Amino acid sequence: KLSRRLQLIMEQIPDGSRLADIGSDHALLPVAAVEAGRAIKAVAGEVNQGPLQAAAKQVAEAGRGEYISVRLGDGLAVISPGEVDVITIAGMGGSLIASILNEGQDKLSGVKRLILQPNVGEDLLRRWLLDHAWVLVSEMIIEEDGKIYEILTAVPEHSSPLRSNEELYRERSWKAGEASGDVILSRELLIRMGPWLLEQPNEVFVAKWQGELVKMEGILKSVSSSKLPSAAAKARELTEEMKQIREVLACLQ
Ligand code: SAM
Repeated sequence: KLSRRLQLIMEQIPDGSRLADIGSDHALLPVAAVEAGRAIKAVAGEVNQGPLQAAAKQVAEAGRGEYISVRLGDGLAVISPGEVDVITIAGMGGSLIASILNEGQDKLSGVKRLILQPNVGEDLLRRWLLDHAWVLVSEMIIEEDGKIYEILTAVPEHSSPLRSNEELYRERSWKAGEASGDVILSRELLIRMGPWLLEQPNEVFVAKWQGELVKMEGILKSVSSSKLPSAAAKARELTEEMKQIREVLACLQ
């Protein structure tokens, strides 16, 4: 049975997709996606031998070898251009996911949807998507086994059904500003917190940002006691960010 995290990722895959799951480990996601009819065929990519063998075993045991190709390789090197229309990359840091996308840009041209689940560094990934004309169409935040996960789904800007990145971020900053009286969130903070998560925050989102505030307070303390010339500016910046985060949280509660 899939974890709730993998189940939610799977639910973002449109029916009948050609899927590549990069860093597939046990290939649980492609096997479940094929069984659910969400993927008509899939590639399970792995850079490491151990997980590759686990993936091959899982696919064979599920009897889905005809539909799922298990391949050894780094990132998007395992697929050819135009081969898939959906890519999932889950369970890694945001900077690793961003570098996999960056290195594999020549493989992204026919891809209609990216479903990404960074364990940390979500902001780096949102920044990469923004810089490469991918528009977020959904964001989820969940807690499982005491860990918080975010699931980001993006489509190419030219095919975005709703809006461009500029519209999305402008709209969100205005809405957050309206909801909280006079706070207009900075672009930086929108990228850190997530434009869709801010639109429909849940208790996990609030818990995450309360935790972040605690961490930031610790950093502010050490910055404030530092004698480095840049310390004062850094402290001001942190204080302003914390103020904005507090105001966002205050209007959610
Ligand atoms: N995607 C699965 C999930 O979310 O449950 C497995 C996540 S597992 C923690 C991360 C996997 O990514 C590992 O099996 C690792 O070998 C693989 N991996 C790391 N870097 C990779 C890369 N550059 N290309 C392909 N796979 C990679």
